[in-house]
Amino acid sequence: MPWRKELADVARKTGHHVIEVPGWRTRGHGGQPAVHGIVMHHTAGRDDMHVVRDGRPGLSGPLSHFWLGRTGAIYVVAAGHCNHNAPSTSPHHTNSASIGIEAENTGYEPWPDVQLDAYLALVVELCREFGLPASRVKGHWEVNRGKIDPRGINMSRFRAAVAARLEGEDVSAHDILHGRHILMNKGTKSEERVSVAYYLQHLESEQDKMIAILGEIRDKLAQL
Ligand SMILES: [Zn+2]
Repeated sequence: MPWRKELADVARKTGHHVIEVPGWRTRGHGGQPAVHGIVMHHTAGRDDMHVVRDGRPGLSGPLSHFWLGRTGAIYVVAAGHCNHNAPSTSPHHTNSASIGIEAENTGYEPWPDVQLDAYLALVVELCREFGLPASRVKGHWEVNRGKIDPRGINMSRFRAAVAARLEGEDVSAHDILHGRHILMNKGTKSEERVSVAYYLQHLESEQDKMIAILGEIRDKLAQL
């Protein structure tokens, strides 16, 4: 069973700060047999690298190969088999067949751009290393029943960003997750006119929704 001792070097290719958690090269429930997919998670907490490393009551650590802090720092936690997705609804995303990334987010807060950029860069480098297409990148909720993480990341847009990066396009996570990538479309003028007009329409309807929500929030605050 191989131990994935290349993971720290793969993480360093992102250009983001990488911390090798002591003992990571031999941490795991045995080796990592295969890498056919990547599963993205949020930790539902803060400052919880130790939970991913050591586990929690009822689930022994390591819980993922990586812990990604809100600062964008990438912690390499384990080179072996991790308890991050069981039971999986996808054969490519079982614990035996996938890499898990746990990102520090409570599930009820925005994602800092620097953390999203590190998330995107790490996933892209893992896809390159293991020869995976963007379609093999899944949010936990997509490959497990009853999960919601990673909350706040639109997985379709994230995969589009991964695909664009793999094609050599220089897009940021922020651009993709906020839909600005539409402005970088390459197509005929009429194709671009259709997609940009569609996007404008989409944003205008979002704007109306946001204005309504802002009103509700102001009313709520006034009552507190
Ligand atoms: Zn998860």
